[in-house]
Amino acid sequence: MVEAKMYYESDADLSLLQGKTIAVLGYGSQGHAHALNLKDSGLNVIVAQRPGGNNYKKAIEDGWKPISVAEAVKQADWVHILLPDEIQKKVWQEDIKPNIKKSAVLSFAHGFNIRFKQIIPTPDLDVIMIAPKGPGHLVRRQYEEGKGVPCLVAVEQNASGKAKDLAFAYAKGIGGTRGGVLETTFAEETETDLFGEQVVLCGGLVELINSGFETLVAAGYQPEIAYFECLHEVKLIVDLIFEGGFSKMNYSISDTAEYGEYVTGKRIITDSTREEMKKVLADIQSGKFANNWLEENKTGRAFFNKAKKEQSEKMIEKVGARLRSKMSWIKK
Ligand code: NDP
Ligand code: MG
Repeated sequence: MVEAKMYYESDADLSLLQGKTIAVLGYGSQGHAHALNLKDSGLNVIVAQRPGGNNYKKAIEDGWKPISVAEAVKQADWVHILLPDEIQKKVWQEDIKPNIKKSAVLSFAHGFNIRFKQIIPTPDLDVIMIAPKGPGHLVRRQYEEGKGVPCLVAVEQNASGKAKDLAFAYAKGIGGTRGGVLETTFAEETETDLFGEQVVLCGGLVELINSGFETLVAAGYQPEIAYFECLHEVKLIVDLIFEGGFSKMNYSISDTAEYGEYVTGKRIITDSTREEMKKVLADIQSGKFANNWLEENKTGRAFFNKAKKEQSEKMIEKVGARLRSKMSWIKK
């Protein structure tokens, strides 16, 4: 196995960003973290955030003078898009493309709009990605604690000849080189990110928990017990896996549980499940999933909203809300 090269603090030169005006577009989960970390790294940052919502209020409270996307892009040498993926095309066409400086840097935290050709940047721009592998609130908190969330960086267009060094510098500015930076491509980041969230992290996990819970409840067991077994304990098990892999989990669980793991796991994730995983990956690679999602957004999100409502009305959510309200030690 060839080990991928990791890059750390001494591989990145923050001075490449000094004197540049960096516009962070959006002050949501990632936006607030990038803007504050870059500023605390001594860089010149401006924030674009539409008025009216909580993120606008938060930007003001944090000491920014938020302006419109068009205005921020006009002033910027570097434009970092931290808006929802599904609206980036429209904002690119209306507010970014007409206003962006020649030879500026255009950057992303996720490859979706470049990989699926929603945004086609002009050839004078450096086009790069700096994707923290963690939620924005952790990107901020870890930076404040002197740590950093690992990042992926990629270069799609290298007009200046310095795009990669610029990407590493930005990663350093948000704390990423403290955790370690890995090189990728827009295609690899986008495809693996979508696959991971659909198959394992969100889609697969939620259905596994739902199905386990519903099987126990339908068989007459108490919902509270089913909740603890099928949902609450997931975190305890995942923490062990996170800390020391499956071997640490297996060390901690009973031999009975470990025997059950070996005989039953493959009855649940069967060859047909693995075949379906390949089809999911094919739909991601072909752009079918992306097209469906963009179409869903154009037509008012009927499926999305219905599925969200159905999940929120499930018994597991109600039982869970009641039990968690008594667990004062769970962080808000
Ligand atoms: P959020 O939803 O947290 O924030 C989106 C921001 O965009 C908010 O400031 C929001 O303002 C603004 N916004 C939303 N709609 C519009 C609009 N129509 N016009 C103008 N502004 C708008 O997004 P994230 O931070 O989660 O995601 C940003 C990018 O980062 C995405 O590319 C995502 O894939 C990527 N990413 C996200 C990660 C995460 O953990 N969340 C992890 C890694 C990458 P308002 O409050 O007014 O709606
Ligand atoms: Mg992801």
